[in-house]
Amino acid sequence: MPIRGVLFDVDDTLFDYSGSEEAGILAHLDELGLLARLPGPQAAVDLWRTVMEAQYARFLAGELTFRGQQGERTRQFLARLGEPGAERLSDEAAAAWFAGYAAHRDAARAAFPDAAPALAGLPPHLRLGVVSNSSADHQRDKLRAIGLLDRVGAVLVCSDQHGEPKPAPSIFHAGCAGLGLAPHEVAYVGDNYALDAEGARDAGLHAFWLDRTASGAPVGEGIRVLHSLDGLARALTA
Ligand SMILES: [Mg+2]
Repeated sequence: MPIRGVLFDVDDTLFDYSGSEEAGILAHLDELGLLARLPGPQAAVDLWRTVMEAQYARFLAGELTFRGQQGERTRQFLARLGEPGAERLSDEAAAAWFAGYAAHRDAARAAFPDAAPALAGLPPHLRLGVVSNSSADHQRDKLRAIGLLDRVGAVLVCSDQHGEPKPAPSIFHAGCAGLGLAPHEVAYVGDNYALDAEGARDAGLHAFWLDRTASGAPVGEGIRVLHSLDGLARALTA
């Protein structure tokens, strides 16, 4: 059965999330005069990511709203910098601090250079969409800003609205249903091995793991590896 549709992960697959996150937090801390509290820029980025991963996991588990995890990231990060009263920061103050970060992050947001050419190079009969562990409004804004919404945004399934995050099979199946296709007719492309590649395979889709670092990590049965999106059109017909 040929592949008739492709669903994509967004962050660190089509969109350079890590690059914009790094630029955003460094510019924000520099503006606030907080960078000197850390041993160096890499330590600042590492701490921001560690805090983000812990609080984003609580969002995906349903403990925090999408906005709630932003506030908690702010409180936990400022507490780790030794800011007095950080853990008791009001929702409004935390949201304002996070908005400062987000403005710098959004000024730096960009698609990976291979994303638009790869999407343009796919056969026009393929139906395209997105399945993402995030909020739909947030991802729609982001895809619009980086110029990819028209190409992949017709089907945009996000965990916040769907109710379950990847690797739950139901969210992949919701994406397939949005395309009007069965899972065995659909490919999934994403950078996270466990959530994207194993999740899609276990949900019955064709799984393509985007390993941009060319890590050489072994992959399980039924999972194909891409090192960039350049070879996607070819890989889909191989
Ligand atoms: Mg990703």
